Amino acid sequence: MKRLFFGGVHPADKKELSASVEVKMTKEPKQVTIPMTQHIGAPCEPLVAVGDTVKKGQKIGDGKGLCVPVHASVSGTVVAIEKRRHINGTDELCVIIENDYKDTEDTSMIAYDDYSNLSDDQIIEIIREAGIVGMGGATFATNVKAATSMERVKTLIANACECEPYITSDDMLLRMYPERVLEGMRIICQVLDPERVVLAIEDNKKEAIAALKKALVNEKKIELVVLPTRYPQGAEKQLVQAVTGSEIPGGELPKSVGAAVFNVATFAYTYGAVCLGRPVTRRMVTISGEAVNNPGNYWFRIGTSFEYAVEQAGGLKDNVWKVIAGGPMMGLAQQDLSACTIKGTSSILCLSEEQNGEAQEENPCIRCGACVKACPMKLQPLYLHAYGKKGNVDELKRLNVMDCIECGCCSYTCPAKLHLVETIREGKKRVKEEM
Ligand code: SF4
Ligand code: SF4
Repeated sequence: MKRLFFGGVHPADKKELSASVEVKMTKEPKQVTIPMTQHIGAPCEPLVAVGDTVKKGQKIGDGKGLCVPVHASVSGTVVAIEKRRHINGTDELCVIIENDYKDTEDTSMIAYDDYSNLSDDQIIEIIREAGIVGMGGATFATNVKAATSMERVKTLIANACECEPYITSDDMLLRMYPERVLEGMRIICQVLDPERVVLAIEDNKKEAIAALKKALVNEKKIELVVLPTRYPQGAEKQLVQAVTGSEIPGGELPKSVGAAVFNVATFAYTYGAVCLGRPVTRRMVTISGEAVNNPGNYWFRIGTSFEYAVEQAGGLKDNVWKVIAGGPMMGLAQQDLSACTIKGTSSILCLSEEQNGEAQEENPCIRCGACVKACPMKLQPLYLHAYGKKGNVDELKRLNVMDCIECGCCSYTCPAKLHLVETIREGKKRVKEEM
């Protein structure tokens, strides 16, 4: 099959585990733990104090600069403001709310049936106030991306690739609510006024493609582009290249070639904010893997502990090896289940001992070149690994280590089972420290 970007791999997608079952609503947790860090940029400062009563959707944290607010995901009482374990492995400031199970809603956001008279600035402010970030996991502030893309974007791309194995939350969202995604795209189009508007999806999502085709029958502006399945097609640079043919230079963003990419869930939340007056208080999460009893997609309030979430999916099996926030290629392994879902949590993956590739011993590099062929960023992972081990920052810089998107294709292909991406990630950290 024709490749539309350099490199990449074809891991078994295992999507049938979660995509073949109905999406489930879950019983709400007794407490939610809302981290003040749920986006790239400055953390929020709490706007509430212990003892305050809060409504669902009430803003409970905000800040200046590259920061978007966070909201209470249940109504109830603030019982603590303290550091708790975050999915990134650090301890971050969180607001803990005891659920009163009344779901009393904050109604301060306005719902606009007709948004055509809203100015660009008004729409961008609504997106900010709703706390919308890159919901595919990137968690970059959507209002900032939209504002900085204005007048520079020829091609707007909705990213429905969801190329990581196991994850199906975007797929299910598209099957259930294609109109919400399309309406969110129209709202962003009003702001960016692009020449071309594309919804890009991989060809392994047959039901979502059918739902989109139906929803797009009378649509003139939005084009559905079905791409051959290949990992990491959902990475911004690879997707832009697959859709437009333009290669984004190292260190640059999609806008450098006149493109802007937003995840499909981000569009659905944009619709919710503008047309329904709803901030981000919940999200669909795939719970999958061979070590969980009932894989599937579940709606969870933001701030639901992984422990509670996994219980709702029938609990872990005895053969559990690892729990990951995100997918197997780029996700973050968790030390325990105390972290909570944040806006960018698309998946909780529970892998069994049978998937334990790390148990295989690392062998010396045989210079086969497989990692170089697989690297979508045209890097030389074998040398990045070697210089990373030696801590040679100058060589790491010369070989453009910072262009690595940590996709894991190199480790996946390596016959010597070298933990390439881990070493490269460490190398990037060293370079950052010296910058
Ligand atoms: S993890 Fe980095 S070095 Fe390895 S294939 Fe992906 S982009 Fe290339
Ligand atoms: S794939 Fe592994 S063995 Fe082959 S060149 Fe790369 S690091 Fe060496």
